[in-house]
Amino acid sequence: MKVIGLVGGMSWNSTLEYYRIINELSARRLGGFHSARLVLYSLDFDDIVRAQREARWDDAADILTEAGTSLKQAGADFLVICTNTMHKVADIVAEKASLPLLNIVDVTGDAIRELGLHQIGLLGTRFVMEEPFYRERLRKRFGIKVLVPREDDMATVHQIIYDELCEGVVKDSSRQTCLDIISRLVTRGAEGIILGCTELPLLIQPGNVDVPLFNTTRLHAEAAVNLALAEG
Ligand code: GLU
Repeated sequence: MKVIGLVGGMSWNSTLEYYRIINELSARRLGGFHSARLVLYSLDFDDIVRAQREARWDDAADILTEAGTSLKQAGADFLVICTNTMHKVADIVAEKASLPLLNIVDVTGDAIRELGLHQIGLLGTRFVMEEPFYRERLRKRFGIKVLVPREDDMATVHQIIYDELCEGVVKDSSRQTCLDIISRLVTRGAEGIILGCTELPLLIQPGNVDVPLFNTTRLHAEAAVNLALAEG
């Protein structure tokens, strides 16, 4: 079994989910007392949020690279960055830490392609919804067209993520707000919805919507177990 290197704490609320899913799935796959072999480097999220707000992405990449390098020294065989947003710098981190990285966008693209969907709605932070690193990767590598919410809805989702979910606050009113935003995306032609923020599954579950939901936390954690258990 390979050792999974988790770069977490962005926020810790979703890192908990990664830890739980990875261990539950490892136990199910291997039976008995088995659990995952993993090393976790949990960052101080305040450092990351400040760098994001001030657009200091190089600094953020340095912080993640230091974590990745430590994980390599601690025995990790590959990296899992437990956030969609910070995949903006994932390729740099993988290269500088010289470790393979399991990219959350690729894992999500694979799952969408498996269902044969072509046009997908995307919820996440502003960085994820607006910047090319996420949408363009899905388009170029998987031929998937991404629809994002209208301007005011984007602002709302971004605010719910940072002001509530990253602080562990889950409100019914925000769930309803997000469901309304999702239904506007579906009306515009979204065949499914990417929960492109690792905290969003705390708010929205499959039973809440009629179209397929792509829970990036679960998909990423499951792919980590698959890679850890793969031969070679
Ligand atoms: N965990 C969130 C994500 O998946 C947002 C927190 C962050 O800024 O990394 O994008």
